[in-house]
Amino acid sequence: MTKIKEVRTKLYEWTGPVVPPQANFCTNASDPLPEMGGSGRDNMGSFRFHQWLVCEVETEDGTVGLGNAALCPPLIKETIDRYLAPLVVGHDPFDNAYLWEKMYRITHAWGRRGVGMTAISAVDIAIWDVMGKLAGKPVFKLLGGRTKDAIPCYYSKLYADDIDAMQKEAQQWLDNGFTMFKSRFGYGPKDGTRGVMENLKRVEAVREVVGYECDLMLEAYMGWNVDYAKRIIPKLQKFEPRWLEEPVIADDIAGYSELNSGPIPISGGEHEFSLLGFKQLLEAKAVSVIQYDTNRVGGITAAQKINALAESYQVPVIPHAGQMHNYHLTMANFNCPMSEWFPVYDVEIGNELFYYIFKGDPEAQNGFLQLDDNLPGLGIELDTEHLHNFKVVQ
Ligand SMILES: [Mg+2]
Repeated sequence: MTKIKEVRTKLYEWTGPVVPPQANFCTNASDPLPEMGGSGRDNMGSFRFHQWLVCEVETEDGTVGLGNAALCPPLIKETIDRYLAPLVVGHDPFDNAYLWEKMYRITHAWGRRGVGMTAISAVDIAIWDVMGKLAGKPVFKLLGGRTKDAIPCYYSKLYADDIDAMQKEAQQWLDNGFTMFKSRFGYGPKDGTRGVMENLKRVEAVREVVGYECDLMLEAYMGWNVDYAKRIIPKLQKFEPRWLEEPVIADDIAGYSELNSGPIPISGGEHEFSLLGFKQLLEAKAVSVIQYDTNRVGGITAAQKINALAESYQVPVIPHAGQMHNYHLTMANFNCPMSEWFPVYDVEIGNELFYYIFKGDPEAQNGFLQLDDNLPGLGIELDTEHLHNFKVVQ
């Protein structure tokens, strides 16, 4: 038995070129705030993130597992360094369920959601990577193995833009073999009736390109409220969206429930945490699709429990974002029908950074992703090719 010897954190901050997003490219939770005092507040500020946290768990035999976190990386670093690392060092990584519970319970007063749970997630994912490497098996083989020949994935970008640009983008990825697409709304309550029309025009335009034999998902990223959603949903119905994602802020479970009883399935959960958080969502029939993000929800240990719970409610789980930590769970769970997939792209809002920090993440081919049956662990490693574009704080 080899024990955990050290837990290291590295804060990656992108200093390379950035593509500025167009105005109204996606709504977000801060949208409804009025502009006061002429401060020129950056509406997209809460959406963009150009940092990522890498967590390395090393065992006595020199095996290194990689975990990561994209929310508030400087605070995650501090949380792991100061509070979590001492809790797992000296333990057998295969006691992961105990280690998860230890991190969760000892930090419970302040750590159970948000930053605290994201930090636990990073350590937990690294521990799973170590377990896979020590066992000589890919992580998905430790989780239940292969439940599908390949993972169907949906194309996720189509931020609100000029209609021509959105149609061109949809056409490009349709030609690439994708049959499922997600686009973003750029307008919310503060944009009034004109904004409703702008939203509808873009949905119609994307539908026109992909047709009705493809799935189209729509994303509001918490930028609406119940009243606005209830006004626009009847108008969206004819475009047959597969789901409407995060129409309201994450804490408004009653709002989700009300909307989910309507004609369009509601999805959410990328800002929800832990097994008990999802129990509340499921009991309230708040979502028709669960979209936890493994690197926020409590890592792979918590995600597996949520998968089982969701299956008992017959609610599918389609993890938020692409990225290896989500793909292994999707491969290993019958109740995870597909993955989200972001295209490799110039650095824009920050999701892309994963591709610049790690290598080994699979690229979608004809709308499918493949995982290697023989690659131990998660199958990713730190990339050095783009290191010159990062400031790395250890
Ligand atoms: Mg989302």
